[in-house]
Order: sequence, then structure tokens, then C-alpha cells
Amino acid sequence: MGVPVLPQPSYSQEAIIQEGIKIGEMARTLFSDGILINEGSNILNYKKTLQLIANAGNITLFEATFIYQNAVARADILQRIHGEWFLFEVKSSVTSDQVKDEEIDDATYTGMILDLCGIQAKTISLMRVSKDYRLGMDNRTFFSVTDCTEAVQERLLNFRCKFDSIMDATGRSNKPTPTLIMPCKQCDFFENHCVGKGVPDPLFDLSRISSKKFNEFVANGIYRISMIPAHHILTSSQEIIWQTVKNQRPWCDLNKITEHLNKIVEPVYYLDFETVSTAIPLYPDITPYETIVTQYSIHQYTALWKELAHCEFLAEQHIDDRRRLTERLLDDIGTTGSVIVYHAAAEKRFILSLVDIFPDLANRLLAIIDRIIDLKIIVQDSYYHQDLHGSYSIKAVLPIFVPDMNYNELDIGDGLTASAVFANLARGKYPPDEAVIYRNNLMEYCKQDTFAMVRIHQKLAELVV
Ligand code: SF4
Repeated sequence: MGVPVLPQPSYSQEAIIQEGIKIGEMARTLFSDGILINEGSNILNYKKTLQLIANAGNITLFEATFIYQNAVARADILQRIHGEWFLFEVKSSVTSDQVKDEEIDDATYTGMILDLCGIQAKTISLMRVSKDYRLGMDNRTFFSVTDCTEAVQERLLNFRCKFDSIMDATGRSNKPTPTLIMPCKQCDFFENHCVGKGVPDPLFDLSRISSKKFNEFVANGIYRISMIPAHHILTSSQEIIWQTVKNQRPWCDLNKITEHLNKIVEPVYYLDFETVSTAIPLYPDITPYETIVTQYSIHQYTALWKELAHCEFLAEQHIDDRRRLTERLLDDIGTTGSVIVYHAAAEKRFILSLVDIFPDLANRLLAIIDRIIDLKIIVQDSYYHQDLHGSYSIKAVLPIFVPDMNYNELDIGDGLTASAVFANLARGKYPPDEAVIYRNNLMEYCKQDTFAMVRIHQKLAELVV
């Protein structure tokens, strides 16, 4: 059997990669006379690196490459000053967050391979995005440098032990037998190439299963929900999932549905926002990674499913258009009737972000929050289907309730892609005719979200008539 090929990055993943590349380029501008190593392959890059460091003297290398046994490490920025080495790893995260474990791990790995190749870095630092940067400022203010030499030193010994065992395992002619672990959930190989092949009910579909419980089950040979024996203590929501998987029949609590639906007040507004968030701000006076509300869709219905209106707004991409968006939203959403959203925490956060910047509109915006009803909570409280696989996202729920509707036929089918498309529009990456098409696709996507809510609400109502 051939080696499985990883899927190509999605549109949104590609956007993150591109922004990472841009940040890497910005970091290099802070080091004068640096030499970029880009010979086309790891081996050639390694040879070039060795050639460049062979001569004594100060030097700055970008993407210096080192190979030890089968392991390759590329140092984002490596400097030798008066015979001492300094390593800088460039990251897209912001300094207001704690240094992530995986960032220290990355730096430790690079430091370890350098070490094995005979380069002992005096300091190992992370260059992260400064929260204080604003569009138009000097590149120097974009980065904040954090020395993590001590944290790396603490991990080095452990890394060395693991490194030896990984080299030993990868050097063997027989493939090790894979076992189910929590990270399998996010692994691209899981379903088609590895332990998930032909497994419809993997253990991690059990909602909020702790790592301890997960590992206990796997150690006892239980890697599917249907393999869990009846005497095991589960939480009430895990018990529902277990029963549903065992019986292959959906679970439904009609009383709870009725209780929730009775709280909805006419006329009903179904509201959904889309946002954009980028490391390099799109507009002046925006912090890196600030979430900017860019569009909304509202469907308005009576209790008898008569559509009263559909309103939508998509920001002008070249300016921060939030004032116009907020004023239009307040006009379109009325002052009475329930506002149904899917996953209220996010939508409330978006409204509060508008309250922060437009205090003169705060009372009217906060009044929207008071009217919000979370459709996701209604579904979560009262329904489970084995095909949900532990997820209550609207993309998972919609095909269960409304099989004739899905997101596959849309050109933009998820929020991350919508965000990436808007960022590309704002950066002028599309010619005008393409930009028109992308804007239409964005509106179609947001409209689908609110119409999906209408249809799911309808189906829930039908269950209790
Ligand atoms: S599915 Fe799990 S065991 Fe298989 S490669 Fe992915 S993470 Fe490893």
C-alpha cells in the first residue's frame, strides 16, 4: 500500500499559511544583511547552510537548515555575533496570550537539532505579534521578542529521550501498530487510512470525555462507543449518546422541545453574523487579531412560518464599515420579538464588540442580547442522532433535520472560509469582476445560515404538534 497523501490545504488554511509567510518576511526586515537559504530541497539547503557558516565572522541566516539522522530543522532566524549563536523563531500568535506549550516545543525541537549538529544557541527567543501594533506602524513595532531559553533548556532532556525512541521507531522496517489516541479526532489519516477505517462510533464522539476516561477505555480494549459495557458510569449526555449508538435510534425529549419553543415570541428574527480576524490588521486603529463584524443576515418570520422579510448587510471591504453595519442592524432587527441565533455565546460577543466601539448605540444593542434565544441549546437539550458524532454544529445538525439542505453546494461553505475571503477582498487580492462574485458568495453563505435556522426550528416545531 502506498503512503497516504495529505489533503491539500483548504482556502482558509491557505490564507493562514500566506499570512504566516508574510509575517516571516516582515521579521526578516528587522535583520540587516541576512541571507535567505532557499536552494529547493532540505539537502541542498543544509549544504548551503554548512557552506555559509564554515567561515568565522558575524552572520545572519534566514531558514538555515540542519539535518541530523532523518530529522530536519529550519531555523527562522539564526545569528552568529562574535562567535555566539542566537536563534529566533517567528510565530503568528500575539503577545497578550501566554507562550503556548507547542511554541516552546517547536523552539526546543529546533534548538535540539542545532545542538546535535554542533550549534549551541546562547539564547532561543520567540518573535510574536505585538498587541500594540497598528496598521501603518514600523515593522519593528509589529514584533515582541520573548526569551524562552530557560523553558527550552528544561525540556531538552525529555526531547532527547523521545527523539531517540522516534528515530528508533521510524528506522524500523515494520510499521508500528497504531492505537486510538485523542489527537486521532483531528488527524487527516483517521477515517480513510488509520484506526478510524470502518469505525462509525469512535470513543471521542462521546461528548466531553476526559483524557483519563478515554485512556482507561482504550487500555481495556474499548475504542468504540458501542463497546462500552452497560455498568460504566457516564454523564447524562454521554449516556444519551451511548444509548443512541447502541439502539441506532435518535433520542428526543418532546417536553423539553415544547418548553423551549414556548419561550419564543413573535415576530421571530433569525440572526447570523460573519466576522474577520487577521494578524496584520486590515484597517487603522484595529489590534492584531481583533474580531471585526463584517456582515449579517436576518430572516424574519411569523409563528405560522410566513416569511416577512430577509435583510442582509455586507461591509464595504476597503474601510472599517462597522458603524454603517450597526445602524442598519438596529433598523433591521426591530425592537420586539425573539432573536434566534445558533451558538449564542459567539453572537453575543460580536454584539458586545459593537457596544464597545459605539457607546452611543449601546442600549439598543444590549436590547438585542436580551431577546436572544439559542437554537443550538434547544437542539442540544432535547435531541441526539447517532450521525451527529458528538457535534451540535449547525453543519452537523442541518442534514439530520433537513436532508434537502446542506452546505456542499455553496462556493463558501464555512465561517473560516468566509473570513479568509473577506480578508482577501479587503486586501484587494481579487480583480473587480471576481470581487463581485466573492461578495455574492459571502451573502449566499450567511443567508444559508439563517435559513437553516428557520428550517431546523420548523422541524422541531413539527415534532411537537
Ligand atoms: S489516526 Fe491516530 S494513530 Fe493514526 S496517524 Fe492519525 S493520530 Fe496517529
